[in-house]
Amino acid sequence: MRRISVFGATGSIGVNTLDLIARRPEEFSVLALSGGRNVDLLASQARGLRAEIAVTAYEDCLPALRAALHGSGIEAAAGTAALIEAAERPADWVMSAIVGAAGLAPGFAALRHGTTLALANKESLVTAGPLLLAEAARHGARILPVDSEHSAVFQALAGEDMAAVERVIITASGGAFRDWPLERLASATVAEASCHPNWAMGQRITIDSASMFNKALEVIETKEYFGIAPERIEVLVHPESLVHALVGFRDGALMAHLGAPDMRHAIGYALNWPERAELPVARLDLAQIGQLSFRAPDETRFPALRLAREVMATGGTAGAAFNAAKEEALDAFIAGEIGFLAMAQLVEEVLAQMSGAGGLGNSALSLDNVRETDTEARARARILISTRRI
Ligand code: NDP
Repeated sequence: MRRISVFGATGSIGVNTLDLIARRPEEFSVLALSGGRNVDLLASQARGLRAEIAVTAYEDCLPALRAALHGSGIEAAAGTAALIEAAERPADWVMSAIVGAAGLAPGFAALRHGTTLALANKESLVTAGPLLLAEAARHGARILPVDSEHSAVFQALAGEDMAAVERVIITASGGAFRDWPLERLASATVAEASCHPNWAMGQRITIDSASMFNKALEVIETKEYFGIAPERIEVLVHPESLVHALVGFRDGALMAHLGAPDMRHAIGYALNWPERAELPVARLDLAQIGQLSFRAPDETRFPALRLAREVMATGGTAGAAFNAAKEEALDAFIAGEIGFLAMAQLVEEVLAQMSGAGGLGNSALSLDNVRETDTEARARARILISTRRI
């Protein structure tokens, strides 16, 4: 039996992960599950899979979680320290699927017991990639990518020599506003940005797809995880979302990974790695699909990709500032405080202020300065929002 923990169990990735685990009860036992405010779902998941402990990130949700688990014998806990404590309990396979920078600490804690960490939380690599990889190496742990593009690159690279890799191309559906003109984007609503054309995902990543901030995070994630130079990473808009990534080799060969837009594919690959097991995902009928289309991304309408390149060039804690400012911008957009295009303006302004203020690229990366940079970027973003300078 493999012991499994899932952080972010109540989210889109978490639910898909538990769907795969529940299909093979003889192979997996569930140790810890975590959620946020969706306590009813967390409790029902914990009961259904007979987890040892369920943790909500929020202290004020603990009474409701305790009540929902009453009589089950399942431990209930709450708060950041409890999340870390649960992540420190030895598991064979841990899913990191909390959304945002909050996912960083539990992932680090899990690596310390040498686990296999399936990493959906791309923010961990964007904010602290070198630290996370070093922690994994130190403890003999393994990080497997869960983002569909990165899982695709990982699969295309199997058995290949990294020295022979010329370029990596990650695809982007283009999100909800792929074909919208710039003028219309200014008045895009939260509801419009929350509808992804191909993927069913959490609201935050769906809006990040519409603004291309998701792809910007993924470009940085590619650099950090695979150690590929930024100039060798390309983004290609592919509206059908069937080709997830391509790897180009020095002999001109291009290896593409295709699959239905279903996250259980990438999650299942990480769950079964290094083997391939049967997965309940649709099989592609290419004759019926007929055509696949590709085009270059438009960085005028979607400046997030340009900002990602600047962040990679700066290095240091620039990723932490970028992600924190982006999270604040997203919160402000969802709350109706700023418009859709103002998100990128806000992130750009925070990065400009912080580069001027002390040089993000100069700071040696440590968990402490990642946290400090995150706090400072959020504070600067909040000031810009509240004083309506964006
Ligand atoms: P969701 O918003 O659907 O779920 C997020 C999960 O994190 C929920 O369990 C939520 O709890 C929990 N959570 C929210 N805030 C906090 C917090 N402050 N502390 C601890 N837990 C919290 O997100 P997704 O599943 O869409 O995405 C999860 C991660 O996976 C993200 O990093 C995303 O970028 C990445 N990813 C997602 C993909 C997808 O298809 N969805 C594809 C590739 C990567 P609750 O809901 O109970 O409040």
